[in-house]
Amino acid sequence: MLSVSEAEAIILNLVPPLVGQRDMEIVDLLAADHRILATPVTSQLDFPHWDNSAMDGYAVRYEDVQHSNDAQPTILEIVEEIAAGYQPQSTLQPGQAARIFTGAVMPAGADTVVMQEKTRREENRVFILAAPQPQEFVRHQAAFYQAGKQLLPAGIKLNPPEIAVLAAAQCAQLSVYRRPRVAIFSSGNELVTPDKPLQPGQIVDSNQYALAALVRETGAEPLLLGIVKDNPEALREAIAYAIANADLVLSTGGVSVGDYDYIEQILASLGAKIHIRSVAISPGKPITVANFPLHHSALYFGLPGNPVSALVTFWRFVQPAIKKLSGLTAGWEPVFVKARSHDELRSNGKRETYLWGRLHLIDGVYEFHKAGGSHSSGNLINLAQTNALAVLPVGKTAISPQVEVQVLQII
Ligand code: AMP
Ligand code: MG
Repeated sequence: MLSVSEAEAIILNLVPPLVGQRDMEIVDLLAADHRILATPVTSQLDFPHWDNSAMDGYAVRYEDVQHSNDAQPTILEIVEEIAAGYQPQSTLQPGQAARIFTGAVMPAGADTVVMQEKTRREENRVFILAAPQPQEFVRHQAAFYQAGKQLLPAGIKLNPPEIAVLAAAQCAQLSVYRRPRVAIFSSGNELVTPDKPLQPGQIVDSNQYALAALVRETGAEPLLLGIVKDNPEALREAIAYAIANADLVLSTGGVSVGDYDYIEQILASLGAKIHIRSVAISPGKPITVANFPLHHSALYFGLPGNPVSALVTFWRFVQPAIKKLSGLTAGWEPVFVKARSHDELRSNGKRETYLWGRLHLIDGVYEFHKAGGSHSSGNLINLAQTNALAVLPVGKTAISPQVEVQVLQII
């Protein structure tokens, strides 16, 4: 059986990121947040666009004011008032200053700004009461970014800071990767949709809903194929459709060794190469990962049917794969933090064990609180309001309260 880290490496290796022209689309900047930039962005503007003032004060020639002090102020004639958005008209001559405001363009001839707190004004004269540093409070053109250099690289996620940069650079439209398409279906004769009255023995297909939400949250587009009966023809039809119409396929149920578990045979008949059959993870051991080297680029994940197993294997294996597939060049790995455990955590030590609960930040230190109630993989009720999974490595049977534990952040 593969270890979790071996399985993770195999999966990430199988994921071909979106890269080609056909995987790109143009979007308006207002619709670009959370998308992945597909081509590098370069601006023809310098930042700042021109020399400007960092303070409200007076633009001066340093030469004129370098010996100023309270007792012997330099007196300058004010020749212009320069507000933000205004183009200065004058060139400062010796003995002259311009009233200037934050962000306003420096007038020709001036090289320094004296903040207004270090001045006294009398009509059209200003008294400079202290010597500034040369070039003080001037933001120079191109000091932050030079036109023509790369502003943003391809393969990054556009979060609000990048949106701000793109707006400032006047990129009203940009090229992003299309969202990966993820087909989802549930297999099981016992499954029904949430709107149907339950007959004895039936179970609601919660996995479809949970996985659709997770896929959307990860920036991909779910393609919901519904519930498929545990019979070979129906499953074959669903899988053939899914691999032809999606980049990634998620099925739940039918991958364990039960009598009705046909999925592996069907995958084989569709030309699949099966890379993973089971992983030493709890919950979630029976997980199938396959691709179709000769037919499609789709990657197939057969996740366990147990609701918690389906979600844990999604967080641990599928979410990083979707992030890589979406064109991100880095940062698709799951995020683990160190926390002190509030509770005793137990495992049988045979598989890497994930226990769900809540991460709290207490005086700047993470503390993990295990969810109360059963940690059976069939119990999804106590998953509600959790935001993290504590990890017990293989061989570790217990972690005592107050002892450090690795925790996977899921929200
Ligand atoms: P299986 O992997 O098909 O053997 O299913 C394992 C357990 O998970 C069984 O108790 C199923 O009833 C339950 N299960 C399977 N699929 C789903 C689903 N889509 N939603 C909720 N529970 C499921
Ligand atoms: Mg089943």
